[in-house]
Amino acid sequence: MPAEPADIHLPPACRETIRAGALVAINTSGGKDSQAMTILLSRIVPRDQIVAVHAPLGEVEWPGTVEHIEATLPAGVPLVLAPVASGKSLLDRVEERGMFPGVRQRWCTAEHKRGPIERELRRYLKIHPRFDGRLLNCLGIRRDESAARAGRVPWRRNERMSVAGREVFDWLPIFDLSTEDVFRVIRLAGQSPHWIYRHLSRCSCSFCIFSSPGDLRTAAELRPALYRRYARTERRIGHTLSPTRRPLPELTGVPLAAGGGFEDPADPIGA
Ligand code: SF4
Repeated sequence: MPAEPADIHLPPACRETIRAGALVAINTSGGKDSQAMTILLSRIVPRDQIVAVHAPLGEVEWPGTVEHIEATLPAGVPLVLAPVASGKSLLDRVEERGMFPGVRQRWCTAEHKRGPIERELRRYLKIHPRFDGRLLNCLGIRRDESAARAGRVPWRRNERMSVAGREVFDWLPIFDLSTEDVFRVIRLAGQSPHWIYRHLSRCSCSFCIFSSPGDLRTAAELRPALYRRYARTERRIGHTLSPTRRPLPELTGVPLAAGGGFEDPADPIGA
């Protein structure tokens, strides 16, 4: 392996597993953290051992996300898309369940991201026997994002996936990077982060259960049609996106009937 950048959290056991030829799967959301992680990993891992995997969230993710991932992937790194098998959007599932995800009941992540990604990685290992079932599952989680994330272990065996001839480790390569470090890595690589960072500090679902009222207002202005769908869904099912239990029009100050705001040119479905 070439010399690694000091930024990467690289325990000796991890280094050995890469040397032994394991598959290195980069979970990418299109956000700044996964972009910086991709840049750094592509410098220390042979390209033919890397795969990027993204769970596309369709209408509820920011437009242009898949295109941004494709445009910033290093040459020779394949991208595997992992949509939900049912084809239903997150908003469809909210309607079916009669409730939005909650901070404790985060079924959105498990059902629309982790589950489909694990399915695709199992499939990838099966059709690429040269990896001998060895997988490093890389996530762009950083310790300074939150107290909960600071408690994560940056290298550990994934017991749930380590069955049926597979040996899987969860690895957080950029665990020690700050937000400034992340943007620096992207800038020094000659890349730009996703367009949403011109408006918001997070690249999540356009309307996320963790969004602040200010971010929800910005999202309502950028995507008025989707905003109206979320607000109408809240009213129909009698449950709110926000864990504060305050409905979107009250939180954002943007009335349900509003057709105004501005349209982001990158948003093809905002009208
Ligand atoms: S971005 Fe927010 S709403 Fe979307 S899947 Fe993640 S936690 Fe759930």
